[in-house]
Parts: sequence; C-alpha cells; structure tokens
Amino acid sequence: GSVPTTILVTGAAGFIGSHFVRHWRTRHPADRVVAVDALTYAGNRENLADVEPGVVFRQADIRDQDAIADLLSEHRVDVVVNFAAESHNSYAVLRPVEFFETNVAGTVALLEAVRRTGVGRFHHISTCEVYGDLALDSPDSFTEESPYRPRTPYNASKAGADHAVRAYGLTYDLPVTITNCANNFGSHQFPEKVIPLFTTNALRGLPLPLYESSHNRREWLHVSDHCAAIEAVLDRGRIGATYNVGSGVEADVETIADLVLDHLGLSPDLKVTVPDRPSHDRRYLLDSALVRGELGWRPSIAFEEGLRRTIDWYRDNRAWWEPLIGRSPVAEQTAWAGR
Ligand code: NAD
Repeated sequence: GSVPTTILVTGAAGFIGSHFVRHWRTRHPADRVVAVDALTYAGNRENLADVEPGVVFRQADIRDQDAIADLLSEHRVDVVVNFAAESHNSYAVLRPVEFFETNVAGTVALLEAVRRTGVGRFHHISTCEVYGDLALDSPDSFTEESPYRPRTPYNASKAGADHAVRAYGLTYDLPVTITNCANNFGSHQFPEKVIPLFTTNALRGLPLPLYESSHNRREWLHVSDHCAAIEAVLDRGRIGATYNVGSGVEADVETIADLVLDHLGLSPDLKVTVPDRPSHDRRYLLDSALVRGELGWRPSIAFEEGLRRTIDWYRDNRAWWEPLIGRSPVAEQTAWAGR
C-alpha cells in the first residue's frame, strides 16, 4: 500500500526470515522493519548484515509474551510475520519437547501478544510436512483441504501451531493467514540441511551421507519465490485463508547429491549410505492452484539453475559457513543427521 507499514518479522536471523527481510526492504523501502530473533544455534545476525542499517533488530524469544507485546506497542506494529521455529527434523527426534515449546507454545504466546495489542495482521509460516507423506508412485498432491497427518515431532509441532493460528482467527476474530510451503533452498541456509550439507561437505572433500531411502523425494522452491508468495498473501490474501506454496518440481536426495558433485567437478564416489532417520517421510507434493489462481503468484527460478547459483554461493562464501560447521546440535550425535 501507499501508507508506510511497520512489519515485525520473527525468526528474522534464520534462513528464510532473513531473505524475507531483504525482500521486504527492497520491495517496500518506506516501511519500517522490526527484526526479532532469539538467536538460537540456527540464528545468525550476520544474515542481516547487509540490511541492518534500515532495520531495527531486537533479540527476543517468541515464548516471552510480555517482551513481544512490549515490542508490538513500542513500535506500533501493523503486521507480524512469524518465521520463528525450531526447524530441523533430525534435531526434533532428539529434543521433541523443545520443538513443541517453541513451535506450538511460542506461536500461542505470539498470538496472545497480538491479541492484547490489536495488531492488524498476523501471517504464519508453515510447511507441507503437516499433511504427512505420499507414496512415491502416488498421483495425489496435498490441497489446503487435505487432512493433517504429521508423522514426526517437527511436523506435529508445526501442525499444532497451524491449528492454534486458525483457532485464534476464528475465536478472537484475529486477521490471520497461513502459508504451507514446500522445501526451500538458497543462500544462507544453515549447513545442517541437505543441500548446504552436501555442498559444504563436497567443498571440504568429505563424503555426502545419503540415507538408505535416498529415493525419497522433496518438492523444491527457491527461497526468493517463497518470499514473493508471502508478499502476495500479505498484499491480497483472504483473511482466515491458508495457501499451499510449491513449485511442483520434485527431486530425490540422490539426484541432488549427483547435481552438487557434477557442478563442483567431483567424483560420484563421494556418496556414502547411512542408516535412515526414524519415520522419514517418503515424499510431499503440494497442489498450489489456489495461490496461483487467486493471487497470480508463480515461481520464477528453475530448480537446477537455482541449485547451481546456491552451490556457487557456498563456494564463494566459505567465511559465512565455516564458523557454523559443528554448531548444529545433531552434527556428531546421529548417523542420520543432516536432513
Ligand atoms: P531456521 O532454523 O534457519 O530459522 C529459524 C529462526 O528462528 C532462527 O533464526 C532461530 O534463531 C529463530 N528462533 C528459534 N526459536 C525461536 C524463539 N523461541 N523465539 C524467537 N526466535 C526463534 O529455519 P528456516 O528454514 O528459515 O525456517 C523458517 C520458518 O519456515 C520455520 O517456521 C519453518 O518451519 C518454516 N518452513 C521452512 C521450510 C524450509 O524448507 N526451510 C519450508 C517450509 C516452512
């Protein structure tokens, strides 16, 4: 709109949150951005270094309802976008309680703070993984009407948060929206996740650990396209609505390993097999007809081209990721870490 807005972004020092802050600063330079993050192991203020002059950063935990309510009042916030979460499926298997505390209780505390202060809009970032998994040969995809069938502590905690957001929208008439997005990839993703893990291992000459079930597939969306979809929903989404956001492009884990090794000119012998993670979902695929038809959003970055750019970014930005190696709480603890 033409009237400057104050937007508060939680989880702003993480992978997608920091991309979203950069996206918003470029697209809405007159708006004020308050970036909030608890700075867990996954949060990195460095991710905001290039945008921080135009952004207010505050270290705060979304579970701290009073601290968040104070920030909302102090900055007269109009819009809250919630990216803050524990986000690593493998870590969730080890520490499920933390995931429910941050992802469910944290989202509820944030909703309470929004309810107390009368913020004009609350947008919540969720995942395709709440719908459960699909058989590898299934012709189906998940619509916004598909039942929630989470199968891991991470997925269940994200599902719980979505239910809380919708319940607050209906019960307290809060202006909420949700996006459930496919797997994201791009620069600044913590090196515990599969694409940066494979890339940084390859760049260090280390093996690429593939699960036994490396034919499991994911739908991949470039993080910039995700940010554009969130912007479209904030701009013209229906209050109370949920939108699935995906590219329709699937790639299995072994294909990704092959693409990484090929782009870096390395031998396929670097691939090694490790035991599978418990309850590892086979496949997710979203039906994104609603966000495409109703809001006119489309992905703009092709998977292989985006992947090559991402690999190049890790190759050219060792100073960003080298200090993060070993900081993931699962790094040395499980054979199936990394996904
Ligand atoms: P990330 O781990 O890189 O970022 C999460 C950020 O949240 C970190 O900066 C962390 O410090 C912060 N955080 C954690 N607990 C917090 C708390 N209690 N209070 C305040 N901040 C806290 O993860 P990401 O990949 O950027 O994911 C962001 C959001 O997008 C998450 O909600 C995730 O579930 C969702 N999502 C991710 C993907 C994906 O493929 N990465 C896909 C769909 C949805």
